Amino acid sequence: MFTKWLRFLLWQPFALMCRRFPLWPFRAVVTEPVDGVMCIKIDNLLTRLLSRFSGGYDYAVCYVVDRTLMVDTGFPWARRRLKQTLLELGLDQTVSTVVNTHYHEDHTGNNDLIVDVCQAQVLAHAVAVPEIRFPIELPWYRSFLFGPARLAEASPIGTKIDTERFRFEVVETPGHCPGHICLFEPEQKWLFSGDLYVAADLDSQLRDADGPQWISSLESALRLNPEWMFDAHGSIFSGAERVERHLRRKLGFLTAIRDRVDRFATGTQTIQELTRKVFDRRDLVDWLSFGEGWLSIITASDFSRCNLVKTFLCARISAAASHDGQDGR
Ligand SMILES: [Zn+2]
Repeated sequence: MFTKWLRFLLWQPFALMCRRFPLWPFRAVVTEPVDGVMCIKIDNLLTRLLSRFSGGYDYAVCYVVDRTLMVDTGFPWARRRLKQTLLELGLDQTVSTVVNTHYHEDHTGNNDLIVDVCQAQVLAHAVAVPEIRFPIELPWYRSFLFGPARLAEASPIGTKIDTERFRFEVVETPGHCPGHICLFEPEQKWLFSGDLYVAADLDSQLRDADGPQWISSLESALRLNPEWMFDAHGSIFSGAERVERHLRRKLGFLTAIRDRVDRFATGTQTIQELTRKVFDRRDLVDWLSFGEGWLSIITASDFSRCNLVKTFLCARISAAASHDGQDGR
């Protein structure tokens, strides 16, 4: 209880300052990489520094398709700048639907704003809807980095979603978290990939990540043969070969971890010991983070390599159990 009060008292002035008098004002960069797709990236000096430090990918961006469909709504601190941008571009008059690729707060952080300003409806995978409508209290560093989540209604998405010119298939791609989806336009070969990719070699993950599911989702995405990939953290890849190369790099990274878990998960050992063997790195970050990856340092182990290793371990043990069950029959 004491820590809750302490957090509350420290948090209020900080939150007020970020909303009213940001030390580093946010700027919006709007691009149109291909006809019909707008990318709205909102950042400031601090987010750019953090992005650079955390592996080169931006804070989550928003995409607007055909001026009517918004894919993800960004992080809550971006709110005022996003509102200004929507008004400047006249999107307040045209956006009618929001699709959240998943429930993380840096992708759903301004759902309520889009509902208010554009009278849009918010759609997400049925598994993600309760997480969006009834969000958990965020760990301190996530509130600090992204801002406090605001509440908004959301409804389950169907299997397809159309705009005037484009027809999207909703592709289930769990792995980064449960209820993660991508949107795929088969004629244009566009893949709005949410956090399916982000970066090829992201090793520290949250507890809701699932390595084996992530591998299947990447394989499903590859089968679509996308020619454009719009990543939710700002990277845009064009050309079938380039998109495939990036998806395969990510797939290779995860399958290598899976194979090393299979190789080293023998006898009994702590999950940390196993993780160290799986990653086998001996650099400064590894030493400072007790083998859990650098993101674990700033997130008090909320992000950790162990989380990913654990999911491969669970899949391996379940597979062995069902194999034994079949043998025993
Ligand atoms: Zn995410």
